[in-house]
Amino acid sequence: MTQTVTVRVPAKVNVQLAVGGARPDGFHDLANVFLAVGLYDEVSVTPADELRVTCEGPDAAQVPLDRTNLAARAALELARRYGLDPAVHLHITKDIPVAGGMAGGSADGAGALLACDTLWGTNASREELLDICAELGSDVPFSLVGGAALGTGRGEMLRPLEVGGTFHWVFAMAERGLSTPAVFREFDRMNEGLRVPEPVASQDLLDALAKGDAGALARTVSNDLQPAALSLFPELAGTLAAGRAAGALAALVSGSGPTTAHLAPDEETARTIGRELLASGTCRTVRVTRSPAPGATVLG
Ligand code: ATP
Repeated sequence: MTQTVTVRVPAKVNVQLAVGGARPDGFHDLANVFLAVGLYDEVSVTPADELRVTCEGPDAAQVPLDRTNLAARAALELARRYGLDPAVHLHITKDIPVAGGMAGGSADGAGALLACDTLWGTNASREELLDICAELGSDVPFSLVGGAALGTGRGEMLRPLEVGGTFHWVFAMAERGLSTPAVFREFDRMNEGLRVPEPVASQDLLDALAKGDAGALARTVSNDLQPAALSLFPELAGTLAAGRAAGALAALVSGSGPTTAHLAPDEETARTIGRELLASGTCRTVRVTRSPAPGATVLG
């Protein structure tokens, strides 16, 4: 009998993304409030003759299938630490947009890690799994834990946050992707010679999350990368405006973009916003979903 382990992993939206100035190592300090949303990739792992990655889904053609894929890198790192042969077939069923600012690659890294840990019986501690995630990328630890969390440092030091209710969202996917490093470079260019303040989490925003108060959350969401994303992708301003006109309490670029996130007061309004955004012709597709969502979960 062939053994397969499948793990489901959520996408994220940053309800606050405060970005500090470039550090000497080129990275930026962040105050990053992550919220997992109900849009998922699934990663399945099956024993095979050698390490292999396949991917299905609307954006599958843009996903690298070599060892640069974050799922492959996760499997290789766990195998290296435990002296195992990483001979597995990793299959990604991709629903999270690629290069969309929703941490899709990070989700696959966290998913593959948990799937391999389960398949191989390595039983790595939560701490070790989080350590491997942080090595793979700043957004990967959050994909493992899900829910809501405040990320500091490069975003990889996580503090879980309380969420007191359900938030309804519409995500509008763009016609093309945006490279995260390119958006940070544009942020640096736009802030050259300016004094960039230390990134600090907004207490009002954390209170809004804890209360589950969508109106208060809408008043406090912010994304310091938004001006840079809009500078590289000016059409996104039209998508944000269309979402607001359709009834969104707030509309912002998700992470480094180009996906835009539209916060709705309730599920019915979210469906209306989704229909109107699609009809506006300012995006490729829309997804109506809710948050928070659980982190990486073994399905079987
Ligand atoms: P983030 O929100 O964390 O900045 P993103 O959602 O904007 O990331 P990803 O979908 O994670 O972007 O992809 C960024 C790049 O990473 C892709 O263009 C691709 O070359 C590479 N990549 C590596 N592994 C994967 C993967 N499993 N899925 C998608 N892209 C991957």
